[in-house]
Amino acid sequence: MTGANDDPQLALTVAAVWRQARASCPHPDLLASWLHGGVDGGARRFVDFHLGESCCPTCNAVVDDLRARDARAVRPADDDARARCLHSTLAAVRSARR
Ligand SMILES: [Zn+2]
Repeated sequence: MTGANDDPQLALTVAAVWRQARASCPHPDLLASWLHGGVDGGARRFVDFHLGESCCPTCNAVVDDLRARDARAVRPADDDARARCLHSTLAAVRSARR
């Protein structure tokens, strides 16, 4: 005898339905706070579970994007280039005023 559980197309799990509806997904602001260590207690355990054991692909992608954004934001080479650009601009403005 065959049932719905034998047909892979009909074999829906609660986890799959929840994942598809993103019913338990934390807001991206909460994921950002979690990433920067600003979430404690039960909320932290929930996000840990959601990203780890639950393996939510959407939220893990959001966290990957946040990490990439952070890595781009904190690059000393960019700071040096920005500082050199600022100094050369100030020098040009000062020499134009004379
Ligand atoms: Zn999620």
